Amino acid sequence: MKIDGSCHCGEIAFEAEVDSSGLRLCHCTDCQRLSGSAFRANLRAPAAGFRLLRGEPRSYIKIADSGARRRHAFCGNCGTPIYACSADDPVSYSLRIGTIAQRAAFMPVSQIWRRSALPWVDELAKVPANEQG
Ligand SMILES: [Zn+2]
Ligand SMILES: [Zn+2]
Repeated sequence: MKIDGSCHCGEIAFEAEVDSSGLRLCHCTDCQRLSGSAFRANLRAPAAGFRLLRGEPRSYIKIADSGARRRHAFCGNCGTPIYACSADDPVSYSLRIGTIAQRAAFMPVSQIWRRSALPWVDELAKVPANEQG
């Protein structure tokens, strides 16, 4: 499926060809901190179908315990996270679902790092809710 997305300020825009079952949730502490949120929802996009349409993201290289280098790309103007990928010769991009125009069309197919999930993530339906702010 073809998707497109952009950062909050609009300086960065991209398009990609993705698998409709490519959405995964990550509850690891790196994703919590790097996203500034409770967990991160990542949509896998093969490198061959990913294209930047506008702008050049800044990036932060995270070095894993294994020594693997991962590039976290974000808009240098508004700070929106755009993708993560291997720092060298990426074969795929991990796109951030909130940046994608068609985001409501995807349902997560798995969750990883549940051991660091915040304790309330399965209780959202019980939280008092309004349709708007
Ligand atoms: Zn931006
Ligand atoms: Zn993670």
